[in-house]
Amino acid sequence: MSLEKAAQAIRNAESLALACHVGPDGDALGSMLGLGLAARNSGKPVVASFGSPHVLPPSLSFLPTDLIVPPQEFPAEPDVMVVLDAGSADRIGDLAPAAKSAATVVVLDHHVTNEGFGDVSVVEPTAAATGELVFRLLGILDWEISPEIAQCLHTALVTDTGRFQYSNTTPETLRIAAELVARGADPAVIGRHVYEEAPFGYLKAAAVAMERASLDPRLEVVSTFITAQDLDDLGITWGDTENLIDLLRMAEEADTAILAKAHSDGTTKVSMRSRGLTDVGALAAKQGGGGHRLAAGFTTSEQPETVIATLVSSLGDHR
Ligand code: 5GP
Ligand code: MN
Repeated sequence: MSLEKAAQAIRNAESLALACHVGPDGDALGSMLGLGLAARNSGKPVVASFGSPHVLPPSLSFLPTDLIVPPQEFPAEPDVMVVLDAGSADRIGDLAPAAKSAATVVVLDHHVTNEGFGDVSVVEPTAAATGELVFRLLGILDWEISPEIAQCLHTALVTDTGRFQYSNTTPETLRIAAELVARGADPAVIGRHVYEEAPFGYLKAAAVAMERASLDPRLEVVSTFITAQDLDDLGITWGDTENLIDLLRMAEEADTAILAKAHSDGTTKVSMRSRGLTDVGALAAKQGGGGHRLAAGFTTSEQPETVIATLVSSLGDHR
């Protein structure tokens, strides 16, 4: 569906309730907050949230997050609920019942595995980030992009393009980025918080994960895992490990990188990346998750080493 339809629903809303995917990244938070702040500045009552565990990644806490309420305070029956950067209905975790009860659900997303949910579903896999869609939406709504909003949307673009270096980076992405910087986004602040600093414990965690990494040169896959216990020992949180997959995927012998994160509740969250040989989105979708062709993930109840073995043995089906 078109962004105009989404704009119409948002314009006619008495109030807005915004949600993004669980374990939010820079695009999820940046696109949600960008839209939320613009709505607030335009006099539209708005709240924003994301599902449990409701913990902001430390590297993104520089964003203006005061719109965000805990999931318990999210309206049970929203008027218009806007779901951002979530490839499927279950990706909003414990906010899913609110979406079921909402009068209207608007979905803004760019995941190729998104099969379409909600009443107004705008899914554009060619958009590098959901933040691009929000930028265009604000143009249609004629809602002003303040420096604060520009910072949120630029964070969305920077993080989902890996600092404008992934293949999803288009001339349009860069045009929007230029516009956002012109409107007050500060690339240096974003760069420092997201990429240039981390707790010392993160360096140690990276060392633990890399020590455990294994490379299969024949299958061109590199994999490793990290556990909640490792993080506890080093005094860091899952939010601190966002960039770990980027370190692992550097192995030049590998097309595919697999990182399994064993959480304390017994679930394992798997992140996958490919240089182009493997459709990790399809591989993740088969496991109940999703994402993009070259970056995807899913959650399982299997142990990290078991799930890695399963994935490695099924790689051939996705090349
Ligand atoms: P990451 O590995 O950074 O968590 O996620 C990579 C990409 O896959 C992101 O676009 C993310 O939204 C998507 N993704 C990660 N985990 C899941 C999941 O469990 N389900 C779905 N549908 N997408 C996921
Ligand atoms: Mn995204």
